[in-house]
Amino acid sequence: MLFSQDIGIDLGTSNTLVFVKGKGIIIREPSVVAVDQRFNPVRVVAVGSEAKEMIGRTPGSIAALRPLRDGVIADFDATAEMLKKFIRKAITASPFAKTRIMICVPSGVTEVERRAVNDAAKSAGARYVSLIEEPMAAAIGAGLPVENATGSMIVDIGGGTAEVAVVALGDIVTSRSVKVAGDSCDEAIINYIRKKYNLLIGERTAEDIKIQIGSAYPYEGEGAMNVKGRNLVDGLPKDVEITAEEVREAMKDCVNQVLDAVRTTLENTPPELAADIIDRGITLTGGGALLRGLDKLIEKEAGIPVRVADNPLDCVVEGTGICLEKHH
Ligand code: ADP
Ligand code: MG
Repeated sequence: MLFSQDIGIDLGTSNTLVFVKGKGIIIREPSVVAVDQRFNPVRVVAVGSEAKEMIGRTPGSIAALRPLRDGVIADFDATAEMLKKFIRKAITASPFAKTRIMICVPSGVTEVERRAVNDAAKSAGARYVSLIEEPMAAAIGAGLPVENATGSMIVDIGGGTAEVAVVALGDIVTSRSVKVAGDSCDEAIINYIRKKYNLLIGERTAEDIKIQIGSAYPYEGEGAMNVKGRNLVDGLPKDVEITAEEVREAMKDCVNQVLDAVRTTLENTPPELAADIIDRGITLTGGGALLRGLDKLIEKEAGIPVRVADNPLDCVVEGTGICLEKHH
């Protein structure tokens, strides 16, 4: 029987990850809930990948939703329920054990929403709950020397938000959060294909296109992809060939907005720290960091070296894990 247990959670807009001290990352699931709308208030029937798989395959009364979609807690009850289900899966200690949970929430989350996350974790069995800023967790997980006087820049690109921050001496010196990230790229691809080809595609297909051939900068061996959807003219199924160049064109505005956030943050950085960043470079984390050529584009436009962190999707939860190990 365990008498204490430390758990770190990355409550992301696309994915929720759970780290258990001594075990590592034990949960990696989409931040999706399936609700049965016949009940009032609605009843959560599944969370995570199980919920995601129910999309489009369930009776009409069940709907799958992403409660954190735009970097805010859009559906509070669903978020709390999802968090509770994940925490209950992670807690293996006795109910009397001192369970400590550190949760990382998107930085756009309000004070009220933070309290709500805290309450949800408590009611799932946590004795102590602490919240950590997303860019800080990302920086720690990416192995940046956050406690140093030397400034480091972290750019975390998730589904709903992109967060840019400069950290030094254990604190966030300056930061910027924009609601333009992976999801907006997917939406931009949907809009582009609808306008150019009168073809309607779904979100999953758009994400697929982005991951398979999408890029922020021209790359070696660019190809094309066959895309299926519904013809908006006659309503029948139709397919078209989409090139990597078209996908880059579709995502251009989104990528530029992330670039602008990097520029603005650099402008707001005190000169001494800006000099550190020029020397040490910018680190990218989050799923969006995996977009081909994004590092190259930022490097070229900002004139500063850029590196993608190892396992960028894991940095935030790894950061909470490192914090838990340290403060014990
Ligand atoms: P969040 O922290 O908001 O939950 P994640 O860091 O988990 O987000 O990243 C999810 C986003 O990363 C999604 O928009 C997803 O489409 C995108 N993503 C994942 N892999 C890739 C890839 N190889 N190329 C481009 N985007 C990717
Ligand atoms: Mg994230």
